[in-house]
Amino acid sequence: MTASASADLQPGPQPGGALVLFSGGQDSATCLAWALDRFDRVETLGFAYGQRHLVELACRDALRRGMVAHRTVWTDRLGPDHTLDLGVLGQVSDTALTSEAEIAFGAGGLPNTFVPGRNLLFLTFAAALATRRGLKHIVGGMCETDYSGYPDCRDDTIKALQVALNLGMQSRFVLHTPLMWLDKAETWHLAERLGGADLVGLIRDESHSCYLGDRLHAHDWGLGCGECPACELRRRGWERYRHPPAPDAAPGNGPDTGPGDA
Ligand code: ZN
Repeated sequence: MTASASADLQPGPQPGGALVLFSGGQDSATCLAWALDRFDRVETLGFAYGQRHLVELACRDALRRGMVAHRTVWTDRLGPDHTLDLGVLGQVSDTALTSEAEIAFGAGGLPNTFVPGRNLLFLTFAAALATRRGLKHIVGGMCETDYSGYPDCRDDTIKALQVALNLGMQSRFVLHTPLMWLDKAETWHLAERLGGADLVGLIRDESHSCYLGDRLHAHDWGLGCGECPACELRRRGWERYRHPPAPDAAPGNGPDTGPGDA
């Protein structure tokens, strides 16, 4: 465990307002709860740029409604939802996706790295919107632990972008990545600390991870095809959350240890 309960739970909301990059997946749903626990005003932002993401976007409303039903204090903090159409990313991927990338990511369905630097674009658009909305904090679910191969998820990248955005927009944004050093199991634990079993159940049932957009097949970790890399990662994280290795187990000897949980 890399974060303590006392570090996660805030005694009172911080001023300044936050904009959460909110795709409707497990990570961004946890980030939304984290932000609602921490900031006095929270708005959400989704990007539409492909069919899989339309499925995720459809989950967002149910998650938002569930969050405010979960805690009345969050009702007053949750502000508007925004959606930006970034269909242009599809045009970029048509020309920029290399054959090498197709080989690396194509087997499990749509690659989620199909636009290099995608998170740089997302955060830059988020900062532009945050400027208009008067929001100081920007929250994203970027994570080195499960996505170490993606350079735009790295902590150094986000820190550098914060500097660039504040210079280029003459602003004082703070980019928050509360999941940066958590694996998927620890992300479930964070949700539990923020909102107990009810919040875990909400995120399990209403968030979407599957690359194939499958919302038909139910598993104990949520809905999905159960086969694609995103479903596999989610399943392994859930199992480690629900059935953690014995405390005296030597590192690396746990039953679910693997590259995705490193
Ligand atoms: Zn899947």
